[in-house]
Amino acid sequence: MDFYAPLTDLKGIGSKSAKLYEALDICHVGALLYDFPRTYRLYPDPVASRLEEHEGEKTAVSLSLRKGISTKRTRSMDISIGQGTVDGELLELIWFRMPYIRNQVAPGRAYIFYGELKKVRSNAWQLQQPAVYAPQEYERLRRSPQAVYSLTKGLTNKAVAKAVGQLLDDTALTEEYLPSELLNKRKLPGYRYAIRQMHTPDDFDSLKEARDRLVYDEFLKFFLTKGMEQGNGQGAPNRWRFDRDECYQRVLSQLPFSLTAGQKDTLQDIRSDFGGEYVSQRLLQGDVGSGKTILAFLAMLLAVENGYQAAIMAPTEVLARQHEKTFRSYVREFDLPFHVVCITGSVKAAQRRELNRRVAEEAGLFIIGTHALLSENMEYRGLAVVVTDEQHRFGVKQRKTLSDKGMDPHVLVMSATPIPRTLAMILYSDMRISVIKDVPERRLRTKNAVITREKRKNAFDFIGKEVKAGHQAYIICPLVEASEKTEAENVTEYAATVREYFKGAVSVGLLHGRMTPQEKDRVMAELVDKKIQVLVSTTVVEVGVNIPNATVMMIEDANRFGLAQLHQLRGRVGRGEWQSYCMFVDGSPNGQQSERLSILAQSNDGFFIANEDLRLRGPGDFYGIRQSGDLDFKLADIYQDADVMRLAANDAQEMLAEDPALTTEKYRPVREYLRKMDTVVYTNL
Ligand code: ADP
Ligand code: MG
Repeated sequence: MDFYAPLTDLKGIGSKSAKLYEALDICHVGALLYDFPRTYRLYPDPVASRLEEHEGEKTAVSLSLRKGISTKRTRSMDISIGQGTVDGELLELIWFRMPYIRNQVAPGRAYIFYGELKKVRSNAWQLQQPAVYAPQEYERLRRSPQAVYSLTKGLTNKAVAKAVGQLLDDTALTEEYLPSELLNKRKLPGYRYAIRQMHTPDDFDSLKEARDRLVYDEFLKFFLTKGMEQGNGQGAPNRWRFDRDECYQRVLSQLPFSLTAGQKDTLQDIRSDFGGEYVSQRLLQGDVGSGKTILAFLAMLLAVENGYQAAIMAPTEVLARQHEKTFRSYVREFDLPFHVVCITGSVKAAQRRELNRRVAEEAGLFIIGTHALLSENMEYRGLAVVVTDEQHRFGVKQRKTLSDKGMDPHVLVMSATPIPRTLAMILYSDMRISVIKDVPERRLRTKNAVITREKRKNAFDFIGKEVKAGHQAYIICPLVEASEKTEAENVTEYAATVREYFKGAVSVGLLHGRMTPQEKDRVMAELVDKKIQVLVSTTVVEVGVNIPNATVMMIEDANRFGLAQLHQLRGRVGRGEWQSYCMFVDGSPNGQQSERLSILAQSNDGFFIANEDLRLRGPGDFYGIRQSGDLDFKLADIYQDADVMRLAANDAQEMLAEDPALTTEKYRPVREYLRKMDTVVYTNL
């Protein structure tokens, strides 16, 4: 089977179910192969007493039947019934249309019956259609984690597992592509084994081994791609001359606040870059709220007042519009004679043509936009500086796109993810790094609380009070649990619950990743206009959104997010002059408090949190915690897998030194793999 074959090539998948997979971003066979389980479940320990503790649960009961199973034949179907006693209580086993079951269960022998346990009368219980296992068989099963896939309505876990099973049987799909000497050196298992174990692990040890291999692959791909695109490393010659700086100096002197030391240092770094022999590539790391936008503006202003263009690119339309507003207000406030244009995917064709024309012709222009700024039909006139906000992966590829158009601007990448320096230097080996360690002194620090689910009502009441006082709140809704529910449905349901709770007294809006950019924009506009008082959202509000009037952030299932991501979410509040609050709802089982959450409650310092994160992650921690997606690693985690990252970076370098274009027989499969994986969206993880 080909990696790119359509899913309909699989048995049991027609065009209708292919559509369901498409809704999950799985559009070809290769993508399904990389649709790793969302999590894994273990079969429960068998019980032989105290049934009442398991009422309504999928339960495994260990039981031997007194008599054989009897089958009654009714007009519509056969009903087979067996009976036994558990801890003095009657347990009835009942199967419909399965008369043969009676040959599989002998009286007097112990079996495990697995099904949903229901109470039918006092002291009488029932398992309907239970699966039957011999005790040893069940024991084996119990050790192997069962894949739980992300689903959508109409798609069952069983169906996905079956489809994946067909892929696993097709050995051509999982041919090893790395040289065996490398695998031996790094003590990594084979590719086929790894993929198989991810989907159908024998036990947790094999799963970990499999994951290690694929994490290595992911890092290796990252570094190889980077290395190959980077070519000889050095940037293009710097032909931009920024001699004038009157506007820049004037804005600096008229700012309504004084810059922090970190901001000043960074500006120094940027100015010295601009005077360099080659165009610069700088990563600017600064915690949420450290004031990166004004730095971007100032850097861009230098270019603009010297008659060049400067662009800032945001990952979403919402953020682009927000920057547009900010930039327009700066231009107005400081009375600058320059224009601002904003180009996004949703600009109508006629207007887009006009904007494109201006960008192609107008010197000294602030250009704001999304990835649309990189589209083929864009032409610039003297683009000297490109800033990207909150997206790490504006990297070599994007720079190359511009460079191919004959442009070699200075590039400034701004990020709020506080990556420890040692890791940043590996990930961004091609960039210089500035770090803003300090955050502007605020009168009021965000107050934190970790609460249990039972206290949710109090949290809602608190939100109600803040809203009454004229403020706004975000609620990050619980992660999708129930299998046949999409994220969108989940958010919609939760928003309905919140609405109902406030009985119409509060206007509730919702936001999720599946909305179109226009829909998202409309929601954000309503939030800015205070038409929405409480926004129920997925983590899409995580990056960069700036609504100073919002004072409460409530995060459901906070224990299931990574610390860095929680810190980002918290950064959405505390941006105005009012006291703000962040409530982390800890959904850990049986009141077992999450140590990670208490770190957040203690500190608002992103770098401290990142280091604690690194310290706290144990090797067993890799499932169930959602990492922030902004580094684009799906399986790998730069903190926890830092060691693997170092090895992969090293190996990629050696590989490229040996064979820069990966064209030798030894490395051609690697090249093919990189090409294939470029089209795969890993889902879920
Ligand atoms: P981020 O680094 O998260 O992108 P922003 O650039 O959005 O942060 O800045 C957050 C807020 O802080 C903005 O309202 C900005 O005007 C303000 N700000 C920036 N620098 C300072 C400073 N030195 N002192 C006080 N406020 C500042
Ligand atoms: Mg920002």
